[in-house]
Amino acid sequence: MKLPEELKKKCGKELSACSNRELYEALMALVQEEAIKRESNEGKKKVYYISAEFLIGKLLSNNLINLGWYDEVRDTLKANGKDLCEVEEAEPEPSLGNGGLGRLAACFLDSMAGLGLNGAGIGLNYHLGLFKQEFEKELQKETPNPWIEEKSWLIRREVSYPVRFGSLTVHSRLYDIAVTGYRNRTNWLHLFDVESVDEGIVEEGISFDKEDIARNLTLFLYPDDSDEAGRKLRIYQQYFMVSNGARLILDECVKKGCNLHDLPDYAVIQINDTHPSMVIPELIRLLTERGIDFDEAVEIVKKTCAYTNHTILAEALEKWPVSYLKEVVPQLVPVIEILDDRIRRKYGSEAVAVIDRNDLVHMAHMDIHYGFSVNGVAYLHTEILKNTELKDFYELYPEKFNNKTNGITFRRWLLHCNHPLADYITKKIGAEYKRDVEELKKLGAFDDEASLKELLEIKHQNKLALKHYLMETQGIDVNENSIFDIQIKRLHEYKRQQMNALYVIHKYLEIKKGRLPSTPITVIFGAKAAPAYVIAKDIIHLILCLEKLIGSDPQVSPYLNVVMVENYNVTKAEKLIPACDISQQISLASKEASGTGNMKFMLNGAVTLGTMDGANVEIAELVGKENIYIFGETSETVIEHYDKADYVSRDYYEKNEDIKEAVDFIVGDELMELGNEENLKRLHDELLKKDWFMTLLDYESYAQAREQAYKDYEDRMEWAKKMLVNISSAGFFSSDRTIAEYNRDIWKLDV
Ligand SMILES: *Cc1c(COP(=O)(O)O)cnc(C)c1O
Repeated sequence: MKLPEELKKKCGKELSACSNRELYEALMALVQEEAIKRESNEGKKKVYYISAEFLIGKLLSNNLINLGWYDEVRDTLKANGKDLCEVEEAEPEPSLGNGGLGRLAACFLDSMAGLGLNGAGIGLNYHLGLFKQEFEKELQKETPNPWIEEKSWLIRREVSYPVRFGSLTVHSRLYDIAVTGYRNRTNWLHLFDVESVDEGIVEEGISFDKEDIARNLTLFLYPDDSDEAGRKLRIYQQYFMVSNGARLILDECVKKGCNLHDLPDYAVIQINDTHPSMVIPELIRLLTERGIDFDEAVEIVKKTCAYTNHTILAEALEKWPVSYLKEVVPQLVPVIEILDDRIRRKYGSEAVAVIDRNDLVHMAHMDIHYGFSVNGVAYLHTEILKNTELKDFYELYPEKFNNKTNGITFRRWLLHCNHPLADYITKKIGAEYKRDVEELKKLGAFDDEASLKELLEIKHQNKLALKHYLMETQGIDVNENSIFDIQIKRLHEYKRQQMNALYVIHKYLEIKKGRLPSTPITVIFGAKAAPAYVIAKDIIHLILCLEKLIGSDPQVSPYLNVVMVENYNVTKAEKLIPACDISQQISLASKEASGTGNMKFMLNGAVTLGTMDGANVEIAELVGKENIYIFGETSETVIEHYDKADYVSRDYYEKNEDIKEAVDFIVGDELMELGNEENLKRLHDELLKKDWFMTLLDYESYAQAREQAYKDYEDRMEWAKKMLVNISSAGFFSSDRTIAEYNRDIWKLDV
């Protein structure tokens, strides 16, 4: 039967008589049936990508693209007076991740399936996911984000395990989400849940009884860990994930004929950051339970597990007190103690111990000693790991260290989110680039005036589309003829949204003095702050106050506007990125391990304004210095400042009048009238007295580079050439390339 008829049959009536929700549910059911048909168990060895987060985004359109159904479905709906884009609106976005790390995991699953690799994701089925962000009185308010509906992408499985914690046992339930590969096989994302979870225990906002484990275990993604109960809940979640995951892996392997001694021939486990690190002692424990002796179990696990490091931020490298583990997962403590004891005997060094002298278990240390691979996520990041952060380990195990520069799936971040650009590329170079991203380079030849004008016109159309979206969703009017200057990512001091805001203040003051920009500027932010991260919330407050101040100033708003997009998530990113002119990637050098937002923007024809940090370094190398705006101190200089502890923000404030003026504006009359003294004063204080991420160090060169970008934007043809170089050089950042490298160097599955 043909697709249009099948759809009609699913709906049980004429398509023209269906609501968007009915169409969405019918399409979801058809996709799921087709996905199951394309399921494959080929391949003896399988990779298990285990991660606390999978920020998968809405699934309908991407599945339609991957199955090769998109055009037909769109046209069928259109012929019946329906619009696929409106049908998409009926789908809620699963919020199973915080930001880049979870989004990376989602891109990797897409690429694994697209490349036909035998792989699966393992994670947790958080019912309320990451909180939903609302703005109230220029402050972030967190509310629950339920996304599981009566009919959803989750498929309930007959897989359940009892999971034992110190004081209780809970029973798990497996749910699967199909991961369709682009014109290829289907893999699965396995999400474990507890049957006893109870959304009824959520109180005001996103608070709930943190001690009621049976009912809260899979309620939220990383709830507030600013207190002890929150941190213990995180251990409960992590162990629940790895214990279920490990048992699923062993069961699958045994079913395929594995005798457990040969586990590494059947399974490779990629540990995404340290959240799943307890899979190491848990697997050892389970293997010994199944009759393998301890020494051999350790050797088996060492050949099965590989670890990806995502950060050098000290506060993000997990260390769990032994006392917490004794309470939550007492069965793992003896295993971890033996693992530590062996390291201590072998190396006699405190620096590489698993359990330190304060009785903290260093999860990353356990991964490095008891896994066979350690990888960073961009060239610079891996170099910093080898030479600085993990130097002691690199000296012990140089052969384990390798780099895998992150990537993004072009299916979602080009084919799905930017149809006009994807069609343009197809028109110029053919559709082969959808399979082989190396083909994109050919686009570089189309730098004649007519082609460049088309490129500018596509950007303009995307800006108009964003304008309409912002009007519909937030009632905000933006000028489509202004420069769209965008910074969207989690709010963190190291990402330096505060530096962007200081520049906005500076520009505001300039306009007040009559120095007007040639082209109006729209500065767009999107960012959630962790609920307990006080300064991050103060920065949001500052941005929202600036939005209000400038928006209501008729002297300034024709030239400058600030927009903070509410509840930044994958769906919002898909709308914002295609419309962007300038991509703000302004982290303090050495602090952003890779970034993937930077890649999405590049692919969609934005020009980067950034520091030599993370994958920006590789972007700069690919596009050349005329096609990127680089500013700021290098990672070497920054690391030296930290070593010598010689950075004093006040020095920069005192010696640069613009900086002083902008910083003091935070606590000046205009903002104090609009905002809260407590938030603004605290932020002002932080910048002057601490500024741990060196905002003021780079401010001057940032402002200069930004002015230069605005100036260059005026020459539309020259700017279009920069856009073209960025798009045509982006092939390297396909996650298909990243995953092919993981497989070549680490997983070694047959393709
Ligand atoms: C890509 C993405 C991120 C990561 O952005 P960075 O700029 O690399 O930090 C975070 N959140 C969402 C929703 C994304 O799509």
